[in-house]
Amino acid sequence: MIRSINPATGEVIETFEPLAENEIESRLNLAAETFIDYRRTSLAERAMKLLRAAEILEAERERFGRLMTTEMGKLFKAAVEEAQKCAWACRFYAENGERFLADEEVKTNATRSFIRYRPLGPILAIMPWNFPFWQVFRFAAPALMAGNVALLKHASCVPQCALAIEDLFRRAGFPEGVFQTLLIESSQVERVLRDRRVVAATLTGSDAAGASVASIAGREIKKTVLELGGSDPFIVMPSADLDEAVSVAVRARTINNGQSCIAAKRFIVHERIYDEFERRFVAAMERLKVGDPLDPATDVGPLATRDQLETVAAQVERAISAGARLLTGGHRLAGPGFFYAPTVLADIPEDAPARREEVFGPVAMLFRARDADEAIRLANETDFGLGSSAWTRDEREQERFIEELEAGLVFINGMVASDPRLPFGGVKRSGYGRELGAFGIREFVNIKTVWIR
Ligand code: NAP
Repeated sequence: MIRSINPATGEVIETFEPLAENEIESRLNLAAETFIDYRRTSLAERAMKLLRAAEILEAERERFGRLMTTEMGKLFKAAVEEAQKCAWACRFYAENGERFLADEEVKTNATRSFIRYRPLGPILAIMPWNFPFWQVFRFAAPALMAGNVALLKHASCVPQCALAIEDLFRRAGFPEGVFQTLLIESSQVERVLRDRRVVAATLTGSDAAGASVASIAGREIKKTVLELGGSDPFIVMPSADLDEAVSVAVRARTINNGQSCIAAKRFIVHERIYDEFERRFVAAMERLKVGDPLDPATDVGPLATRDQLETVAAQVERAISAGARLLTGGHRLAGPGFFYAPTVLADIPEDAPARREEVFGPVAMLFRARDADEAIRLANETDFGLGSSAWTRDEREQERFIEELEAGLVFINGMVASDPRLPFGGVKRSGYGRELGAFGIREFVNIKTVWIR
């Protein structure tokens, strides 16, 4: 059963039956048939439709925002901004897609040789609930611009967002079948992925889901892009502006109620400023107002699902029983809804699982480092490698962090964020492939070599 539940109240909003076999079959057929014509449309025509999608996103951002907030609990203001950011991605690829996909001449012994980028076909996108619009658009805008068609299997807790996005693309003028939502459970993904009409897949989600999808796709020799979890380090060195570092640290940990793949999760602070950082950081986490995500005064809303709440609570309990020091929080909030108090842990022992796992909630872990070497060692000790942020005014230290942090993104004196103009993705267990920028639109294309005598 696919259920829409308001995480601020625990109330079931709507339920949906997963698609039956014949319904999946007809959608796959439609995707394959639509692709035959859609791949021949001009880039200018696709760009016009993406611009129309951007207009709808902007005009209806409050409606889409309310849908996201009631379905997965993010702050309403952030949800409205998310709709706006999706419009930005649509415009970015409408305006730059043609340039990114233009033929590239290469000098050889031929009269003419060049590279041409051609679409691949129906792509299956398996997406998470945490940015229920943004995750979908940052895949769909470039994929549709390149001439592919999309099949969305969204997370089971955000079916209304999934249906709203399908409707939005239809209203933007994309032909029926260019973007379809499949309301299916994760157990039905294998059947879709194995189908010969589906040519590739992208998954944003946990490393466990990524490993499962990639192994099926591997057996079928189908390309995948994986955007998986992270346990991003946030390094603070003595030359940093401490006021700014503390305030960004709090925001970077609690953004999206603590449920962002690129949220800073491990704060690695030089021993010379550690005590001061800890004091100010804990005080700022304690000042956060937890509550109704529709209320503009709220800083942190509920976790998205009951499962998510239970997972985070268990991770914190395990860390404390392994010997971690609890500085604040560490408990659920009474009453309905899936609320968890902003939490800070320190002195987490080497063997505590939390040190290596991703904690997907408003839970910060603090570490003390003797110098840049130890900071880099601690930063690189997890199996993840998505984002990283380092705060220092020392240029030699900056250069070392840029060179040595094992991450797909390094932000110096700033908070990690995605931007349509810049590639986004990870290394190690955070996945492979890139979204956004010029790299993003070239993931799902046939890089065709043409040689003419
Ligand atoms: P998840 O449980 O892995 O689910 C993600 C998607 O995969 C959902 O649509 C889910 O469907 C599906 N899924 C789960 N297990 C599957 C399987 N074995 N086979 C096929 N599909 C499967 O992750 P989540 O809890 O929704 O999202 C949180 C995770 O996403 C975190 O780890 C976060 O760091 C990561 N994330 C990464 C990025 C990035 O860009 N790197 C961005 C955002 C989030 P059901 O809902 O039906 O189970």
